[in-house]
Amino acid sequence: MTKRALITGVAGQDGTYLSELLLGKGYDVYGVAGPYPGDFPERVAVSNGRLHAIDADLTDMESLLAAVEASRPDEVYNLAGQSSVGDSWTEAITTTEVNAMGVLRLLEALRQLAPEARFFQAASAEMFGNAAETPQRETTPLHPQSPYAASKTYAFHVVGSYRESYGMHASNGIMFNHESPLRSLQFVTRKITDGVARIKLGLAEELVLGNLDARRDWGFAGDYVEAMWLMLQQERPDDYVVASGEVHTVREFCAAAFSHLDLDYEQYVRTDLRFFRPADVNVLYGDATKACTVLGWEPKVGFGELVAMMVDADVEQLRAEGA
Ligand code: GDP
Repeated sequence: MTKRALITGVAGQDGTYLSELLLGKGYDVYGVAGPYPGDFPERVAVSNGRLHAIDADLTDMESLLAAVEASRPDEVYNLAGQSSVGDSWTEAITTTEVNAMGVLRLLEALRQLAPEARFFQAASAEMFGNAAETPQRETTPLHPQSPYAASKTYAFHVVGSYRESYGMHASNGIMFNHESPLRSLQFVTRKITDGVARIKLGLAEELVLGNLDARRDWGFAGDYVEAMWLMLQQERPDDYVVASGEVHTVREFCAAAFSHLDLDYEQYVRTDLRFFRPADVNVLYGDATKACTVLGWEPKVGFGELVAMMVDADVEQLRAEGA
């Protein structure tokens, strides 16, 4: 029988990669696109009728009940949310409404209408904050430092609570930073790759950033959605760190991106206090041993390849726009 998946946040970076993965596996995919659907309507049109748009909102319980009723899902992937840590200080209440309460609403809708559906929650490495141990694993204590991290921490715990209280097949993927050419420009990786492409094409003269010393574990989003799918294929639900296991500074990301286009980042990058955060997480570095051994998951794209892929895509996109 054809499997049915409901994906919230389907028009975002992860939603795009995940819906492609599931369509490739023969699923019928029901996607909630959210307020900024991007090219989602176009993808619906070319999906041979197996990608269906559903109008729902994580802040509206009735709409979630209707979405579950309409899709009758075997699997549900909650990828919707306010995804920017930086914006979560200025949008603290919306962030919490969607990222925390929204997950509770979705779990309630499933408990009432589809308690057998398997549920994936996109939890975040930001929950660790400036962590007590490095690298971080599933047992590392949580220490959320931003409104974003606090909202994700609530969601993480309520997923565990529904799993234990109601026996639901609900899993958390503790996702470390994962990037791609589809990453939005709010994130430092894409801001850098777009910036370096503009400089190379003569469209910009400099790139202004914040904390260059922050260290992150950056992987490729296309690899990470595979881990999400694998979690829902297990007999038992659980929580897993999903990370590349490689850590680099923002400065190193800059150096790699500029040198890919034969430029020296030191000549073009400057910092401005405007892009520093009220509280920054210095290092996020994940240990995905559990995902690798239990799920058989393995990231395929390494750091250098990821940077090159993103820079090349930005150059190509700007050229296509007439640069
Ligand atoms: P996050 O780890 O989910 O917050 O992902 P981001 O890509 O937004 O930020 C990663 C790191 O880059 C953080 O430590 C930021 O403080 C740092 N950073 C430095 N300059 C910038 C910038 O101009 N924009 C963003 N978004 N982050 C920056």
